[in-house]
Amino acid sequence: MNRAGNGTAVVQTIDLRKEYRMGTNVVNALAGVSVRIEPGEFVAVMGPSGSGKTTFMNLLGCLDRPSAGKYLFEGDEVSAFDHTELARLRNQKIGFVFQNFNLLPRITALDNVALPLAYGKFARGERRQRAEVALREVGLGDRMDHRPVQLSGGQQQRVAIARAIVGSPSLILADEPTGALDSKTGVEIMGILQTLNDRGITIVLVTHEPDIAEHAGRVLTFRDGRMIRDEKGMGRRAGAPTPATQPHLVAVAGH
Ligand code: ADP
Repeated sequence: MNRAGNGTAVVQTIDLRKEYRMGTNVVNALAGVSVRIEPGEFVAVMGPSGSGKTTFMNLLGCLDRPSAGKYLFEGDEVSAFDHTELARLRNQKIGFVFQNFNLLPRITALDNVALPLAYGKFARGERRQRAEVALREVGLGDRMDHRPVQLSGGQQQRVAIARAIVGSPSLILADEPTGALDSKTGVEIMGILQTLNDRGITIVLVTHEPDIAEHAGRVLTFRDGRMIRDEKGMGRRAGAPTPATQPHLVAVAGH
């Protein structure tokens, strides 16, 4: 059951499909998924390996195009976007967090976080300032000049989260963000994501771990390219006020 959704959904897919052709074989990686994700939701995506989770996330992140179906991001039909428009949407509206952090090893935490702003309108000083705010936001104000190798796994993931929020996105897509971390550090990272969600950022997160999924207010379960379950109110977020009206990351947005 989807929310009634009176306003504009952050994400809406309608019969979204992705097929891969392998010679004469066709793999239906995504076999028709329809879902609405409202502003401020915290959604976990679960399912066995090969069930289509990565394909779904890649489509939501505009990293790939669907074979059929529609994808609306904040009401705009993304399938109609050209390359440049897709890149702009990714850069300005979506923050990505990966299992293995994906930081550039030779530059500092600060420069890693400032990097997504290089494609935007900000001057160097402002990029630096915004990156500093984002790093403080994740509790790394004292590690700005460290390179990734000088940071623990949990700290590296914090840098990656700072990089994801520096452009004040409306959506964070996190692909097993705690998968490479010990459980205590994983809980800390989930706490940070929770705080960001409390401030109004919509989060969609892939996980294999039921206790991680418990942080979400909604769990989508995939199997064989289909969404076979859509359950609400499973985790700690159950009953939380709808944060659609909450301001987005005021500190990072800088107003
Ligand atoms: P999950 O993330 O749940 O493990 P995926 O979305 O990666 O699942 O994969 C879904 C299905 O699509 C799998 O059967 C996988 O083998 C297939 N698949 C994924 N990417 C490709 C690709 N680039 N080419 C061919 N088949 C693919």
